[in-house]
Amino acid sequence: MVADRPVPIFTAKYRTVREGAGFRLTFFCELCGGGYTTPLLGCDTPKEALHLGEQDARLHFNRCECCHGWVCDEHFNENRMMCIACMPRICTQCGAPASKSEQFCKVCGAPHFETCEERMDDYE
Ligand SMILES: [Zn+2]
Ligand SMILES: [Zn+2]
Ligand SMILES: [Zn+2]
Repeated sequence: MVADRPVPIFTAKYRTVREGAGFRLTFFCELCGGGYTTPLLGCDTPKEALHLGEQDARLHFNRCECCHGWVCDEHFNENRMMCIACMPRICTQCGAPASKSEQFCKVCGAPHFETCEERMDDYE
């Protein structure tokens, strides 16, 4: 028997707002509370809207392989596939703390990340 890897449950905190004939969902990063709001989803029930909204929002969040939390790009260490609470972003050359917006290390000047990183999201 082949053991299927279960699809991770999308656990980001979210809020549902009814708007006209549909719903709009806002999902929040578990570290910063920053949100991503979906386009208006033409659904009859909040449950349906959540299902659709999740599929959309998954593309804007990253799942930490350590704590399994969902965080925004800003709080995700894509080199380690973990949130920065579990694995802080550091310079690979000198170990100085690094931030997403800095392309080069402030201490040693080494480039931090490839500019066009490959997203390894496995959508089905
Ligand atoms: Zn965040
Ligand atoms: Zn984590
Ligand atoms: Zn450095």
